[in-house]
Amino acid sequence: MARDAVNAEIVKDMLCAYGIDARVEQDNTWAGAAALPASLAPRVSVADPDERPRARELIDAFEQGPVDSGNAWTCPGCSESIPGQFDRCWLCDTPRTE
Ligand SMILES: [Zn+2]
Repeated sequence: MARDAVNAEIVKDMLCAYGIDARVEQDNTWAGAAALPASLAPRVSVADPDERPRARELIDAFEQGPVDSGNAWTCPGCSESIPGQFDRCWLCDTPRTE
């Protein structure tokens, strides 16, 4: 799924915010990590198979483009800052109103 450590952490946090039990898996030590091929980068895994299709949708939305803070919107329900590619708040599920 996510191909670098930073995105893996962001994706994991996003999935957890949606109530999906996700974690970042690292198959290797991080000594000399910069030289590792992408295939060894940490991956996000979802514990519950029933939640994987939903997780995949969320990750697809996330990966449609880089997070663009210029498009971010602030949730009217909980004041969370949400990246522009999402139409709903990932914390409280309030639809985007802008
Ligand atoms: Zn919210």
